[in-house]
Amino acid sequence: MGIECYLKDEYVVTIDPFLSNAIGGIKLMVRKSEEHNVRKLLREMNASSDSKLLCPQCGSHKFILVPKRTTENLLAAITTWLFSAYAVSAENVYQCTDCGYESETLPEAETEPYN
Ligand SMILES: [Zn+2]
Repeated sequence: MGIECYLKDEYVVTIDPFLSNAIGGIKLMVRKSEEHNVRKLLREMNASSDSKLLCPQCGSHKFILVPKRTTENLLAAITTWLFSAYAVSAENVYQCTDCGYESETLPEAETEPYN
């Protein structure tokens, strides 16, 4: 048994990513009757993936994916701004939201809590 859903505004954001902030990004749409279950499921998924992460600098569990601060990415950003075109894909890194530590891969805790 699955949960019926669809992504609203997926095509708009894919075609013009600059509209993403204006229209509130891509939305996951589900039946109102399933909202509670879906929110609970998403919370559990976030909690289980976050708990495995561990920042080697400050011990935080929270990471976000951000564009790498390289010369190429800066040039891509300027080019995008000048020609208001879709940027060549930028290289991304995972960044600790608490201390700013950056890593190419998600840093995971060395000991698995359930092993
Ligand atoms: Zn950190």
